[in-house]
Amino acid sequence: AFAANDADVIRREAEAVVQVVSDVMEQRKKLQQEQLQLLSEKIQRLKAELHEARESAALDPLTQLHNRSSLDSQLERVADLSFLMSATPCLLMIDIDHFKSINDRFGHPIGDEVIRRVADTLVRNFLRREDFVARYGGEEFVVVVPDSSAHAVRQRAERVRQSIAEIGFSKGKDHFSATCSIGVAVLGPGDTGKSWLARADAALYEAKTAGRNRVVFADDVGASVPSIPAARPVSAPPGRTISSGSLRLPGKTS
Ligand code: GH3
Ligand code: MG
Ligand code: MG
Repeated sequence: AFAANDADVIRREAEAVVQVVSDVMEQRKKLQQEQLQLLSEKIQRLKAELHEARESAALDPLTQLHNRSSLDSQLERVADLSFLMSATPCLLMIDIDHFKSINDRFGHPIGDEVIRRVADTLVRNFLRREDFVARYGGEEFVVVVPDSSAHAVRQRAERVRQSIAEIGFSKGKDHFSATCSIGVAVLGPGDTGKSWLARADAALYEAKTAGRNRVVFADDVGASVPSIPAARPVSAPPGRTISSGSLRLPGKTS
């Protein structure tokens, strides 16, 4: 076009070049937009996966209750913020009685079923949004009730103990029930999550040594208030020892 020195030809050629360049730029822009769209979808997917992973890391897979690590955070949170609450927070530690013999007699899958049903019963009894139900480990559970009077919690603990004792289980022709022991501690001044849990655990130990299938309040331990008598006594195999959680003193019980 330049050789021809024809202005029209030069203009047409220049326009053609501009068209090609703007086509290329348009294509590149489209490509970039598509890549951006893909990237944003990927980020959304990763975010959802992360959320799911966080959720499942905080939940116990057998019962779908909060797990031990989310319980630990919750205990510290409630202990730190208790001054904002209208009532003193309470903690219940629940342990299924003679669970090992349930496993031994009916098998591990039935044991799992017992754990799940006890978990469901706890959730049904502690339905309020602020109630926090966790599987502490094995056949032990913890419920944190942040905003309820000690008197109300005492009643609720007794009700849940009864509800658990009333669940009917069966394997083939065998029908059985399970009981649990419950230790309750009201958050004390200066309590940390750990010390609070330790006092509930000590009350649970008392409930076990006093014959199981009962509720004991940490405040009553060592005082003259007796624990609630067992409605359905459970006979322990001879020579069994009390469950030895890390916080509990080992000792022989009947
Ligand atoms: P106690 O009345 O003193 O609490 O006696 P226990 O038999 O309930 O307590 P112990 O600590 O001796 O036994 C708890 C058993 O729970 C031992 C363990 O094998 C069983 N266990 C722990 N986790 C699970 C689980 O996820 N599923 C089943 N089926 N059994 C479990
Ligand atoms: Mg037990
Ligand atoms: Mg136990």
